[in-house]
Amino acid sequence: MLSVAEARAFLLAAADAHTAVRAAHETEPTLAANGRVLALAQASQLDVPPMDNTQMDGYAVRAADCVSGSARLQVTQRIPAGHVGAALLPGTAARIFTGAMIPPGADAVVMQEACEAQSDASGDHVIVRHVPAVGDWIRRAGEDIRAGDEILAAGTRLRAQELGLAASVGLAGLPLVRKLRVAVFFTGDELAMPGEVLKPGAIYNSNRFMLRGLLENLGCELTDFGIVPDTLSATRDTLRRAAREHDLIITSGGVSVGEEDHIKPAVEVEGRLNMWQIAVKPGKPLAFGEVRRVRRQGDDENGLDGHAFFLGLPGNPVSSFVTFLLFVRPFMLRLQGVQDVLPKTYAMRADFSWPKADRRNEFLRARINDQGGLELFANQSSGVLTSTVWGDGLIDNPAGRTINVGDMVQFIPFSALQG
Ligand code: AMP
Ligand code: MG
Repeated sequence: MLSVAEARAFLLAAADAHTAVRAAHETEPTLAANGRVLALAQASQLDVPPMDNTQMDGYAVRAADCVSGSARLQVTQRIPAGHVGAALLPGTAARIFTGAMIPPGADAVVMQEACEAQSDASGDHVIVRHVPAVGDWIRRAGEDIRAGDEILAAGTRLRAQELGLAASVGLAGLPLVRKLRVAVFFTGDELAMPGEVLKPGAIYNSNRFMLRGLLENLGCELTDFGIVPDTLSATRDTLRRAAREHDLIITSGGVSVGEEDHIKPAVEVEGRLNMWQIAVKPGKPLAFGEVRRVRRQGDDENGLDGHAFFLGLPGNPVSSFVTFLLFVRPFMLRLQGVQDVLPKTYAMRADFSWPKADRRNEFLRARINDQGGLELFANQSSGVLTSTVWGDGLIDNPAGRTINVGDMVQFIPFSALQG
């Protein structure tokens, strides 16, 4: 049996060697880049902020004019954000508002709460009841970013904060790795769709909804071939059709080696297959391989080379869910050039005991309780999807390890595994 780390290292090496997806990048508007992967590093052409500006509403002054603690200065101008003031003469002040450019000659801002405005026939004045230091409340040009600095590395997955940073240096468009094209299908004669009446022996195809949700969160172009009958010819036919225009084919079910499991023989004829037994629970069987791409006229060839990758997930819903998060997600991200594909884990206290060690690396569905510790869902069976809804994440429990109340365990929140 392979360890989780060994299986993942194998997948990531295959993704690193496959450059077609990363090579085919396209420039898209920054406003449409959420969730996408940056193809090329981006540097700033300008300082951020681009000019010295005030952090407060108040008065721009020369600090040397205000040493008395009750200086009375003539207010000679008013500078709202977005407007440029004139040079500040000695003995004068400028009324100024947050974000406005500091006028030449001023070297400090006094916030308005420390000032008293006076208006009379002699004009507008301010009494400054504070002794400012040079630089007070001034945000300096380039304080956040200097012109020429790299702001985003190639392979960065763009979230809201990366988009904001790109926009802050004026980038209207970004070179993006093209979206992965993923085909998915579901094997099992017992499967029915919600909305249909369940015949005896049938179950609903929950994996279709679960896996599609996970894939949509990853931002790929998805083709859903639906439920495929448990026959060799239907499985082969769907594989061939899916390989033509997709980078990756993902299936659910049929990866055991029973008589009704046709994934293995079908992929072996249409390409190559590794059947892995991974020391993971839930999970264990995972099929990884490739399907030859036989093109027809009119197929879109953009960035697709000679084969589609194949990943066959187990049919049990929780196995499918966990296997996707542990293996498929990092593989898909790495195909697009993302380096940090593994989630951060957190050391947390177990408020439960787990007295029976398993030979496999277990990923237990757990919830954070009000005391900041972890509790386990009572039924850890691989068919019980309610555990994934109840839970906040997975405890990564190494093979052979028992857990006592109070032990520290490694916790991976679902939020770090989705999206
Ligand atoms: P299999 O991997 O095909 O041997 O299926 C293992 C178990 O998962 C069986 O109990 C199946 O009925 C169930 N299963 C397979 N596919 C799905 C699916 N798409 N949705 C829900 N359960 C499934
Ligand atoms: Mg089956």
